[in-house]
Amino acid sequence: MSGLSITHLSRRFDTVTAVDDVNLEVEPGSFVCLLGPSGCGKTTLLRMIAGLETPSEGSIRFDGQDLTGLPVHRRDIGMVFQSLALFPHLSVGDNIAYPLAIRGVGRADRDRRVEELLDMVRLPGVAGRAITQLSGGQRQRVAIARALAVSPRLFLLDEPLSALDAKLREAMQVELRQLQQRLGITTIVVTHDQREAMTMADRIVVMQAGRIQQAAPPVDVYRRPATPFVADFIGQTNLIEVTLRDGVPHLLGQPCGEHRPGTASVRPEDVIVQPAGTAPIQAEVVFVRDIGSSVELHLTVGAERLVALAPAGLHPAVGDSVAVSVRAEAVTYFPAKLAFGAPA
Ligand code: ATP
Repeated sequence: MSGLSITHLSRRFDTVTAVDDVNLEVEPGSFVCLLGPSGCGKTTLLRMIAGLETPSEGSIRFDGQDLTGLPVHRRDIGMVFQSLALFPHLSVGDNIAYPLAIRGVGRADRDRRVEELLDMVRLPGVAGRAITQLSGGQRQRVAIARALAVSPRLFLLDEPLSALDAKLREAMQVELRQLQQRLGITTIVVTHDQREAMTMADRIVVMQAGRIQQAAPPVDVYRRPATPFVADFIGQTNLIEVTLRDGVPHLLGQPCGEHRPGTASVRPEDVIVQPAGTAPIQAEVVFVRDIGSSVELHLTVGAERLVALAPAGLHPAVGDSVAVSVRAEAVTYFPAKLAFGAPA
């Protein structure tokens, strides 16, 4: 089996299970983002793939080879850390050439490769500069060039862009993705930024408390979240209780065609807001925020609070009544937890 194959991988630290029975397949040439809140185990998982952390259980295979007992330098992996870990006393060129030098590549070949790599990360002609003479984004590119110097078969990055300001960060996301596509290198990036993951990844692996909640393409993670946690973590959503009324499940007071009570996830853009009285469900506007392309409205419907994105033309005021409905086809339903173990 080619690509990366992780089976039943766990890592415990004393009482904490940082990674808990993770199974994951990463296709060759694909770009995967490990995404989740602080402490969910992303970094520990990445470090085990790199060989910097020893699994408590499970195995990691790459292109059919078992990596589990293999030391870091024999895994053929390029890594970029949040800190970048560039050598401040070395020039840009010597930083990039470092992994080549320790592998015994001769000066002329190293120089040629450094120029090639600098072109690749769109920083031609800076080999002689000191690291301290570069901007944050330029240093980022040098770290990427160094990690790719020996043409590794797997590229791992841990929060590589988190030190950059928002604009530069967005530009680097696109650049990193384009570079990865050009090289076709299997890449795994740790991030806690869901927009970043949506921009770059072929597949997003959403983690919580050491476990994978969902591994799927960005659009599926957004449109078909596997759990309420994923629905809430990826973008914004309304988690609304589906309640039984006379034995019939209702969403916001209306029969919803579901068979069981539980929780519904409705994205703000799937809440349709219209003038009061034009749809059966009435809501009160409690907050209005103009965000340019649309208007964000916070609404109350009975005891429920809803966030809606309305077209920029519609501009109700706080205290107004509006009619709301939900785009039925865009609702994701999650069954209720069965508290007493009753059959589903
Ligand atoms: P962040 O986004 O904050 O970096 P993360 O998702 O990368 O978080 P990890 O760094 O993998 O999470 O940590 C997962 C859990 O394991 C946390 O509870 C953390 O405190 C714990 N942990 C990680 N490394 C160690 C260690 N060396 N010793 C003890 N506990 C650890």
